[in-house]
Amino acid sequence: MTAEQDPPHFRPDTLAVRAGMSRTPFDEMAEPIFLTQGYIYPTAAEAEAAFAGEIDRYQYSRYGNPTVTVFQDRLAAIEGAEQCFATATGMAAVFVSMASILSQGSRLVAGRALFGSSITVFNEYFAKWGIVVDYVDAHVNSDWERALATPADAIYVESPSNPMQDVIDIPFVSALAKQAGALFIVDNVFATPIGQKPLELGADAVVYSATKHIDGQGRVLGGAVLGGAEYIEKVRTMVRTMGATISPFNAWILAKSLETLPVRVKAQSASALELAHWLDIHPKVAVTRYPLLASHPQYALAARQMTLGGTLVTIDIALPPGTDPHGAVAKAAAFRFMDALEVFDISNNLGDAKSIVTHPATTTHRRLGADGRAAVGMCEATVRLSVGLEDIEDLREDLARGLAAI
Ligand SMILES: *Cc1c(COP(=O)(O)O)cnc(C)c1O
Repeated sequence: MTAEQDPPHFRPDTLAVRAGMSRTPFDEMAEPIFLTQGYIYPTAAEAEAAFAGEIDRYQYSRYGNPTVTVFQDRLAAIEGAEQCFATATGMAAVFVSMASILSQGSRLVAGRALFGSSITVFNEYFAKWGIVVDYVDAHVNSDWERALATPADAIYVESPSNPMQDVIDIPFVSALAKQAGALFIVDNVFATPIGQKPLELGADAVVYSATKHIDGQGRVLGGAVLGGAEYIEKVRTMVRTMGATISPFNAWILAKSLETLPVRVKAQSASALELAHWLDIHPKVAVTRYPLLASHPQYALAARQMTLGGTLVTIDIALPPGTDPHGAVAKAAAFRFMDALEVFDISNNLGDAKSIVTHPATTTHRRLGADGRAAVGMCEATVRLSVGLEDIEDLREDLARGLAAI
């Protein structure tokens, strides 16, 4: 198999289609899938040399696989990262991005508004293993100044956050991270590799659930960690030992998905922005949260560090005066809206070609509890919309239908 050169001057949309391409002597058009558990050695001496680390070659698919390499190299090229390591799921990437560098007594500082399973990993496992976890309101810069006045080993944030769309000042946190001696990791799932480049903004590492926009067609689970060579080597060593390796088939789906990621995300983001403008002035919507909406509290920051606002729009349904936003009436209003939709599917996925609607309080953010949800500004009337590739007029009519049903 011959790997082709990826001239560094190519732009991300070209790299998305072509980077990491390698062909076998059959000169196939598409990337082949190597569905193989392992590899054979022509001689006993070559097996010995491979195991001694004297030669670099594929040994076993838990360690590496040519199809997985294509996905990793392509994503690294789009992101502008030195290296990428793919994992079985996004959660495996989240876990290993920190578990590979933290140990008993380490200190992790994390944004408070995170994907639910990430919080469970921190509170139920990292805490048990003697890792100190401190949370901050990640969109409040003074909170970071206070938290990072003492040394830390890792910093972990989502920007924009799920589902409240808080935008974190990545260059600002990056400068404090360096002073505190911490590795700064950004979960870039919401923004996507097309809409925001955390490494260029000063982060040390980026984490993805490839299950979301990267597949974008609801087929497979996958994840990735990107960063410098020395750090990714630690990630690689841990994954190949603990076994959260991605399957070659899933890596193939994801490598092919990267080819259309830029066009999908740009089209979905354009529709999301237009729908956000429309929802923002709709009388049955109390609040519309979208990073590139002028009414977003951190609009200027979002416009500085994001090239696209993303595919997600978060709204609070308007409630009659005096209604408890955390009560049953608020929940019923959100459910009536969701159940009346005909195009948007009710699911907890996001970033798909199919538009999706989610009620975070009863699904993805259920385990936060009412107090935890209130702390990040979420209530029973909060609904998250993942805008897909359907005709925008069908989506607008669908949302109008839902709002009319309240
Ligand atoms: C979905 C998601 C994850 C976890 O990814 P899986 O592929 O489901 O394991 C992590 N972070 C964010 C922001 C997500 O949306």
